[in-house]
Amino acid sequence: SAAPLGSSVIPIVNKLQDIFAQLGSQSTIELPQVAVVGSQSSGKSSVLESLVGRDFLPRGSDICTRRPLVLQLLQTKRKPDGSEEEYGEFLHLPGKRFYDFSEIRREIQAETDREAGGNKGVSDKQIRLKIFSPNVLDITLVDLPGITKVPVGDQPSDIEARIRTMIMSYIKQPSCLILAVTPANSDLANSDAHQIAGNADPDGYRTIGVITKLDIMDRGTDARNPLLGKVVPLRLGYVGVVNRSQEDILLNRSIKDALVAEEKFFRGRPVYTSLADRCGVPQLAKKLNQILVQHIKAILPGLKSRISSALVSVAKEHASYGEITESKAGQGALLLNILSKYCEAFSSMVEGKNEEMSTS
Ligand code: GDP
Ligand code: MG
Repeated sequence: SAAPLGSSVIPIVNKLQDIFAQLGSQSTIELPQVAVVGSQSSGKSSVLESLVGRDFLPRGSDICTRRPLVLQLLQTKRKPDGSEEEYGEFLHLPGKRFYDFSEIRREIQAETDREAGGNKGVSDKQIRLKIFSPNVLDITLVDLPGITKVPVGDQPSDIEARIRTMIMSYIKQPSCLILAVTPANSDLANSDAHQIAGNADPDGYRTIGVITKLDIMDRGTDARNPLLGKVVPLRLGYVGVVNRSQEDILLNRSIKDALVAEEKFFRGRPVYTSLADRCGVPQLAKKLNQILVQHIKAILPGLKSRISSALVSVAKEHASYGEITESKAGQGALLLNILSKYCEAFSSMVEGKNEEMSTS
């Protein structure tokens, strides 16, 4: 069957994001993306990796994510023979396709070191990575360094403030969805994730709670109350997940096996039976997808007018240099046209039957 219309909307938005990056006016355009926030080692990178379904992010018990990683997932078509091709491409290495995902991880690490040094330093300079795959939702995800209190290695004494400022610069954008990640074995009421998400999104219109590490809670406890929003109420609610442990990582356990293990975990625990819609990575993907549809619908009109004015100013600037305006401004105008068409079609789709964009 034909792909749902919704799945075609976000690629256009992503394309625009690229064009605007080229136009040098990226910061004035607020496009929908999903960022993870939380304290160090809460499982942020693990959650993103599970959502993508591939192993490629540096994860571990130490500080691994030291630069913002902007991950643009782009859905490609399966080949007619059913085989699939998945690869990544970095903005800083244009044209080089990475088919080996552990090589992507090594490049993220190497590129992190190039900018932030090898000794736990943190930098706010982005790494931009595109992942092309038939198995992803079309979404832009941002993996961010975790909140940390005590400087280690080459970190400056004001590391906590710096990281908070960096995180805020992403999540304060009204178009950013926030995954607030808290491990189940720590106190949700004192969660760094919810504290900083609450600053950026006080009304909770764009914050989803994610509770990780349900598998390593104290014996005799469970995450029922947090998942039901009884500890920290959250408009968009919570999803509980079980990611791979450090041991699983060392044993090279695949993400597929991890998803099977997660499902088995929830099936084996009656306390979570009645909470099935709040349990597991697939539920998180589904929830995100639904929220994203609503979200894009809400921001499209504003986005359109901002793009128009950015284009006008770029055209003016070009004109003032007496240059031919065909290339960049022309490309932008063409995309704007396409976007307008999608806006209309998309709005009627959402109003019609609120079809999901999921493809998996
Ligand atoms: P980040 O610093 O927030 O990005 O956290 P990571 O994703 O790097 O994970 C930190 C550590 O916690 C790693 O050793 C992961 O294997 C482990 N971890 C993450 N999620 C879970 C989980 O749900 N269960 C268990 N047992 N370990 C987890
Ligand atoms: Mg991380």
